[in-house]
Amino acid sequence: MERNKDQNTQAYVQILGTGMDTQETSPSVLLCFDHERFIFNAGEGLQRFCTEYKIKLSQVDHICLTRVCSETTGGLPGLLLTLAGIKNGSSESDDHVRIWGPPNLDLLVNAMKTYVPHAVMTKKNIIPQSGSALAPPLYVEELRDVDKFKAVNISAFLLSPTQFSPNDTSIVYICKLHDIRGKVDIVKAKACGLEDKRKLGQLQKGISVKSDLLDIEVHPDDVIGPPIPGPIVLIVDCPTEPHAQELLSAQALDAYYSDSQSNFTNVVNCIIHLSPATVVNSPVYEKWMRKFDSAQHIMGRATRKHETTPILASSARIATRLHYLCPQFFPDPSFPSVQNDDDDVAAPNIKVPVESSVCGISAENLLKFALRPPRKLGLDRSCVQNTMTSSVFIEELLSEIPEIAVAAKNIRKFWHKPEEDEVELSDRQDSNDVVIEEPSKFSVPKCLENVQRDDLEIVFLGTGSSIPSKYRNVSSIYVNLFSKGGLLLDCGEGTLAQLKRRYGISGADTVVRNLRCIWISHIHADHHAGLARILALRRDLLKGVEHEPILVVGPEKVGEFLKEYIKLEDLDMLFLDCWSTTRSKWDNTEAEDNSSQPCSKKLKPSTPLDDITLLKCLRKVLGEAGLMRLISFPVVHCDDAFGVVLESADRMNYGEVVPGWKVVYSGDTRPCSEVIDASLGATILIHEATFEDGLVEEAIARNHSTIKEALEVGDSAGAYRVILTHFSQRYPKVPALVEVSMRRTSIAFDLMSVNLADLPVLPKVLPYLKLLFRNNG
Ligand SMILES: [Zn+2]
Ligand SMILES: [Zn+2]
Repeated sequence: MERNKDQNTQAYVQILGTGMDTQETSPSVLLCFDHERFIFNAGEGLQRFCTEYKIKLSQVDHICLTRVCSETTGGLPGLLLTLAGIKNGSSESDDHVRIWGPPNLDLLVNAMKTYVPHAVMTKKNIIPQSGSALAPPLYVEELRDVDKFKAVNISAFLLSPTQFSPNDTSIVYICKLHDIRGKVDIVKAKACGLEDKRKLGQLQKGISVKSDLLDIEVHPDDVIGPPIPGPIVLIVDCPTEPHAQELLSAQALDAYYSDSQSNFTNVVNCIIHLSPATVVNSPVYEKWMRKFDSAQHIMGRATRKHETTPILASSARIATRLHYLCPQFFPDPSFPSVQNDDDDVAAPNIKVPVESSVCGISAENLLKFALRPPRKLGLDRSCVQNTMTSSVFIEELLSEIPEIAVAAKNIRKFWHKPEEDEVELSDRQDSNDVVIEEPSKFSVPKCLENVQRDDLEIVFLGTGSSIPSKYRNVSSIYVNLFSKGGLLLDCGEGTLAQLKRRYGISGADTVVRNLRCIWISHIHADHHAGLARILALRRDLLKGVEHEPILVVGPEKVGEFLKEYIKLEDLDMLFLDCWSTTRSKWDNTEAEDNSSQPCSKKLKPSTPLDDITLLKCLRKVLGEAGLMRLISFPVVHCDDAFGVVLESADRMNYGEVVPGWKVVYSGDTRPCSEVIDASLGATILIHEATFEDGLVEEAIARNHSTIKEALEVGDSAGAYRVILTHFSQRYPKVPALVEVSMRRTSIAFDLMSVNLADLPVLPKVLPYLKLLFRNNG
C-alpha cells in the first residue's frame, strides 16, 4: 500500500508496431502512466513511427532494452540525438532519457561514442548478470533511478544460456503497478462509532482519527478494506529455445506462477511476448506460458500473414499517389501483398496453445492493454486502426485533384512511343501545356544508346535530411545493377525497411544478399545509422553459404564505429577508408597492378589487410558487377565528408564500343568545385538540395546547398540529368521549385526508382509532380 497520491488515473501498455508490416525489426512496447513513460526496445524506425502516431518521444523517461543488437537498438542513436536536440532547446537540459540494458549495452555505448555526444548517454544503466549455470538466476534486479519509479516497480533478470556468447543475453522485465489502497468499509466505520464524513476522508488518507461515539482512536487499518493489488505485466524476449529453457527454470518468476503461494498479490495480468515465432511455438515455451492461468498473452512477433496495412500510412499514401501518376518512376507501394513471392516466406503464424487455459492473441499495431483505472483492466482496441487500402488513397486523390487522371494518361504517352527520339518528345507541347521544353543542347549521351532496362536503376530509399520524418526517410540510395547485384550509397536508419517496402520481404533479402559494397559519405547519423542492421541481416542470410565479407567504404570515423560495434555483434565486413579510394589512389593501383592477380586470397575479417590490398579487392568486386571504379572525393561539409563517382565499364552496342555511364552523388556539401570536377560529363548527378532558395545563409551556416546552388553545379559540370535529394524536413512533402531552372532536373522522393533507360523522360514528369502537390507545397 504505497503512495496514494501517485495513483494514476490512466495506465496502459501498448504495442508500437514498428516493423510489423516490413518485419525487419522488433516492435517496441510503451508502458504509459500519467507522469512516467517507459519504452521497451528501440528498433529502427521508432522515431518515424512516433511522428506518424503523434507519440511524444520527449516525454519518454526510460528506454529498457530486452537485448542489445541491431534489431532492438537500431533506432537508439537517432533517438538519443533527437532527444538531446529537443532537450537542449528547453530548460531541462540535464533531463536525459535513461537507458537500461544487459551488460553488453556498454559495448553499444562505446561504439556510439564515435558520433553521439557522450553527454547524451550519461544515463546508462546496466542490469547486472547474476546466477550461474549451476544456480539458475534467483536474483531479480530492481530498476531504480535516484528514487524509485513513481508509478510502478520494474524488476528484471537476465537469460544467458551458457552455450551462447554473453552478447546474446536477453532480459525479462517484470512491471508491477503499486497496489491501490482499499476503501473505508462503512459497516466497520459505523461499528467504530464514526459519523463525521471528514473523518472518513482522513482515514482514507491514512490518518488516524478519534471516534465520534466511542472513546477510542480509530486507525485506518480498523476500517479500510483490502487493497486492490497492482496489475503485473511481463515483457519477455527469448531469442532461442535455450533461452526459453532458462526462462522455464528461472526461480525469479516462481512467485508469479499461478500455483504459487503468494499468487493472490502477484497475479500476472498481461505478458507481451517479443520472442520469435519459432521459439514461442516450441514445447518448452508453451509449457512456460501455461504457468499463468489468467494472463492475457500478446504475441508481439506474430505478424498476421496477410498484414497489408502499411504501418507508416502517411508516406504510403504519398507513394500510392505518385504510383498512380507515374508507375514507371514510382513502383507499386502496396506492401507486401503485391509481391506474390512473399506468401511463402511470411513469418510463421504463431499458434497460440488452445488446449489449456492460456489466452493469447496476435499483437496489432497500437493495441493496448489497460491497467488503470481498475474497472478498465484488459484489452483495449480503441486505437487499432482500420485497414487502409490503396484504392482509398486513389479515390481521395481523384476527388481532390480531378485533373490528375488526365495527367497520368499524358505521362504514360512518354513510354508508349519508344521509337521517338528526344527532339520529338520535347516537341509534344500540345499534349499538355505544363511540359517544359528541353533545350536541344542536352542531347542523349552515347551511354544511353540502346541501353537495356537491366543495366542500372537508381532507387531512392531516403530523401530527407537529419531526422526520419513522416514523408521522407533519411539518406540512402540503392544502385541496382540487376543480375550483377547492387551497391548502397549511404545507409541511414530505416534503410532495410525501405528496401522491404520497395522489393517486398524476400525481395529485400535478395538485395541484401547480393550487395557488392556499401559506401558511406560522412559520419552524420542520417547517413549511416542503418548500416549495422543491413550488415547483420546479410551475415544471417549468408550463414552456411560460401562468401566473402562485404566491403564498407567510408570516412575514418565510420570505421572506428564499426570497429567498436563488431565487439557487440559480428558484421562480416571489411572497412576501407574513403581516402584510399580517391582518383589518384585508383590511378596508382591500376598502374602498378597489371601483372599480379588482385585479391586472389580469401578474405577474412579477422586478418588485417592494408588499404592497397583492399582497394584491389574493391576493384575485383566492382569488376564482377560491371563497374570500373568507385571514386571518393572530398566535399565541403563536416570533417572527412565525401562525394562519390561510380563509373561503369564500356559496353558493346552493335559492334561499336559505347562508353559506360557515370553516376555522381554529392553526399552532404556546399556547392563546390570538387563536385563539379567529379561530375564533368556525368550521366546522372545526384546532388543534395537541403534548403529552398531563400535560405542561402542557413545553407552556408550548415554546410548544405540550396536548390538553385545544386542546379548551378549540375550546369557547370554539364551533367545530363540532375536529381535533387536530402531535403530539409521542414518541407513536409515537397520543397518549392523554381520553374526556369528545372530543365534537366528531377527531385527525388522516397522509393522513386529511376531506370537508366528512362532518363530522357525524367524531367518531363516534374511539372506533373507539381500538380500532384499543388495543395500542400
Ligand atoms: Zn545529411
Ligand atoms: Zn551531414
